[in-house]
Amino acid sequence: MKTLHRDEKASRMDYAVSVDLGGTNMRVAAVDSRGRILEERRIPTRVERGRDDVVRRMCDLIIKIIASRKAGRCVGVGVGVPGLVYYNRELHESPNFPGRGNFPFKRKMEGRLPVPVIIDNDANVAALGEVWKGAARDVENACLFTLGTGVGCGIVLRGKIWSGTRGIASEAGHMVVDPDGELCNCGTRGCLETIAAAPWMVRRAHWAGERGESEPLRKLFAKKKNASAFDVCRIAEQGDPAARRVFQLAGRALGLAVANLTTILDLQKFIIAGGAANAWKMFSPSMKKEAFARSYVYRAERLPIVQSRLIDKAGLLGAARLVWQEHQD
Ligand SMILES: [Zn+2]
Repeated sequence: MKTLHRDEKASRMDYAVSVDLGGTNMRVAAVDSRGRILEERRIPTRVERGRDDVVRRMCDLIIKIIASRKAGRCVGVGVGVPGLVYYNRELHESPNFPGRGNFPFKRKMEGRLPVPVIIDNDANVAALGEVWKGAARDVENACLFTLGTGVGCGIVLRGKIWSGTRGIASEAGHMVVDPDGELCNCGTRGCLETIAAAPWMVRRAHWAGERGESEPLRKLFAKKKNASAFDVCRIAEQGDPAARRVFQLAGRALGLAVANLTTILDLQKFIIAGGAANAWKMFSPSMKKEAFARSYVYRAERLPIVQSRLIDKAGLLGAARLVWQEHQD
């Protein structure tokens, strides 16, 4: 295994290369030790071509960036990947990438690159990014939820990602918040994800329309088969009770998760990120009310729950921070 150049002191010109590997695009950046993005490029991920192809094109782009930089040295590469990252950040498994079973993501990348590589789950690195330079930069114990296709979660304790025993901690999207709820694709019922992930919010709005609870929702889905959470949010903002209820339910589920996590971990801040976080006005009142009602630890401190500040830069900065933490430890 390659190790970082701990013996050499980083110069001010040195940089980490970070990758935000999304389902549609991968973004690669050079980031200095103070968290400044020196350069950023993006190319399509093309998951359908398979994981080896994704790794090959990602490494080609990283090499291009390293070769083009006139000053400083690349101290390492950090990658935020969707899915689970196991065992000392060696193995990767993701339902979003074709190919079954574990994939030695880090080893494959290090076979192509002249520098060490560190990988972690995308929500974990986004949480680290927010603690380093974003909405939680004033604290060292924080939790981030990303509301997207699923519900991602990352927990940072004492300034570092909490990875658990095998590396797969913080999967709070699969925390059960309704034991009698809908069947989740993880195999259990009533996970946070089945209420607060964007596709589930859309599904619940669709059901409400079909049940005749809302004429605007019925019309929306009759006209637009692939309506989004954004469309549902617009109807909620116009005051439709059924559409509003979709977001209130999501807020309540998030509030339960916040209450449970902070009762256990006594955190300092929660950050809500991801596309569906734009419906903040619709879900945040019920989220805060529920957290307040369900956790005396939350009540004691009136814990802040805030929106992401870095938005789409959280992953890039967090992945770079991972590299710098290894380098500076
Ligand atoms: Zn689940």
